[in-house]
Amino acid sequence: MEKSYRDPVCGMPVEPSRGCSAQHAGRLLYFCSDYCRREFFRTAEPSPSEQPGVVREARPARRIAYFSMEVAVDPGMPTYAGGLGVLAGDTLRSAADLRVPMVAVSLLHRKGHFQQLLDADGAQVERPVGWSPEEFLEPLPGSVEVEIERRRVQVRAWKRDVRGLDGYTVPVLFLDTDLPENSSEDRRLTDVLYGGDERYRLSQEIVLGIGGVRMLGALGYGGIWKVHLNEGHAALAALELLREAAAFGRERDFEGVRRRCVFTTHTPVEAGHDRFDYPLVRRVLGEPLPDEVLRALGGEERLNLTLLALNLSGYVNGVARKHEEVSKRLFPGRDIQTINNGVHSLSWTGDTFRALFDRYLPHWREDPAMLRKALSIPLGEIWEAHSGAKAVLLKAVRELAGRQLRPDALTIGFARRSTEYKRPDLVFFALERLRRIGRGQIQLVSAGKAHPQDRRGKQLIRQIVAAGRALGEEVPVVYLADYDTALARTLTAGVDLWLNTPLRPLEASGTSGMKAAHNGVPSLSVLDGWWIEGCVEGVTGWSIGPAEPPAGGRAEADSLDAGDLYDKLERTILPMYFGSRGGWISVMQHAIALNASFFNSHRMVQEYVTDAYLA
Ligand SMILES: *Cc1c(COP(=O)(O)O)cnc(C)c1O
Repeated sequence: MEKSYRDPVCGMPVEPSRGCSAQHAGRLLYFCSDYCRREFFRTAEPSPSEQPGVVREARPARRIAYFSMEVAVDPGMPTYAGGLGVLAGDTLRSAADLRVPMVAVSLLHRKGHFQQLLDADGAQVERPVGWSPEEFLEPLPGSVEVEIERRRVQVRAWKRDVRGLDGYTVPVLFLDTDLPENSSEDRRLTDVLYGGDERYRLSQEIVLGIGGVRMLGALGYGGIWKVHLNEGHAALAALELLREAAAFGRERDFEGVRRRCVFTTHTPVEAGHDRFDYPLVRRVLGEPLPDEVLRALGGEERLNLTLLALNLSGYVNGVARKHEEVSKRLFPGRDIQTINNGVHSLSWTGDTFRALFDRYLPHWREDPAMLRKALSIPLGEIWEAHSGAKAVLLKAVRELAGRQLRPDALTIGFARRSTEYKRPDLVFFALERLRRIGRGQIQLVSAGKAHPQDRRGKQLIRQIVAAGRALGEEVPVVYLADYDTALARTLTAGVDLWLNTPLRPLEASGTSGMKAAHNGVPSLSVLDGWWIEGCVEGVTGWSIGPAEPPAGGRAEADSLDAGDLYDKLERTILPMYFGSRGGWISVMQHAIALNASFFNSHRMVQEYVTDAYLA
């Protein structure tokens, strides 16, 4: 038998007869591929310029730095606003489970996004969230400096370890400018997530991108191998890498930076990208690059951070096939790939289903692809687990809203940030039709915060509360305040059906339906984002409307989609739920087996490793 060898770079077993080999320090080493052989010698051999007493550029370690403006790592930390931050948290949890060497960088957000209160009419009141970083994070000594509006601003870091199933940890650094050395204005820069004006946002992006790269260096994470920019907010990290290369004698090393940067875009509309006027950029950021170079990289008219990240990243991806297509239309000629989003299976599976999966699907916690075997779970046990999760939800609704919902009614859930394109009001499009179809059979539970400056988003909440009042006890509607990950967990697990009605093609992916699928809750959704790939009609759930938006514009889309939504409820879903319980549970089972087994963040992180980081 052949002696077994391991590749010293990636750790893969190699057969000496198949792999490639090289001599190093008097030993024969075997590599799985030419790529790893090159990597080995790139990092193992001292560069010719190396001299004693000279500050050396750190050698690339096999570590990925993940930059994200928001990240949800603990239900008690309000350091996220919505899906992007939850995705970042799930990415880190899976990276830790899979022992992917990663370190993450975000901002502290001392006042969080905001706490949402609702009055009886559904008017939103925003409160800063008081939380104590000391309770959740370890303060790290030392600080780094960034320049904002020509002022020197000190930045320090707090650390939180995300611990994987076998104890492997991924450190998350939360950057903070609340230091006595800083002016009172600068001390507030890391207070509010997505708050303030453009100057405030750009300053935060400087702290995240530039401060983040410097902090990694200061803490000994220097020589990071890949930098993953999660959305355009983090794009200034790439500029800092350019500056760093120049400091080591490699001026304008665009190729070197591109080899290291991975960019994930999450926004399918032009208006969603962060853009800043150049005079503001000059004032706040200074002149990291000559004007014409910065404009060539980030846009002629305004600095577009998505474009900047695109131009400085060697691997760029959207988060669903459809989103890749839309992104290519926004940025013609660009090489853009797809890595579908996913959710962290263990975190989003409720207690009753965890127990059930533990019994029937060995190893599902570390290998969520095992969820495909849900097809072997007896239907009665799936229903029992679901009934348990539903009871938890109804109890929460009683406690939070003082409403007693019925355990036997079809309970529809809709919860996500309240904003126009998600159309949270679509299900109330024709109230009398909804009343007629749903009387005594349907109840709705809704939740979601509107961004403080999103007037339409706030109006939508009031409209839903008003619609609920009009429907009365015939079709009960409950709007729960202060949607967060804890509430998301209860809701996505406890409802019978998860509703999703965005305007195509504006939902890049959407992830709440994936959480629902982990709890056997099928989706009823417009064909957009992940659902185009996740929907097998009548098998994993149901679609609303055609795959392409109708040509007639918004009004026609609303009326067609609402009509189809009501038709599906009336003709397919209600008859099945009340008349064919076995058929219904079979759909639940397929949502787990076909959707949760794929739309999880373990599969997603593995794709990032093979397609983006190792590429
Ligand atoms: C999952 C999640 C979201 C994202 O939901 P979408 O369906 O992708 O819009 C937003 N907010 C919270 C609190 C979540 O848990």
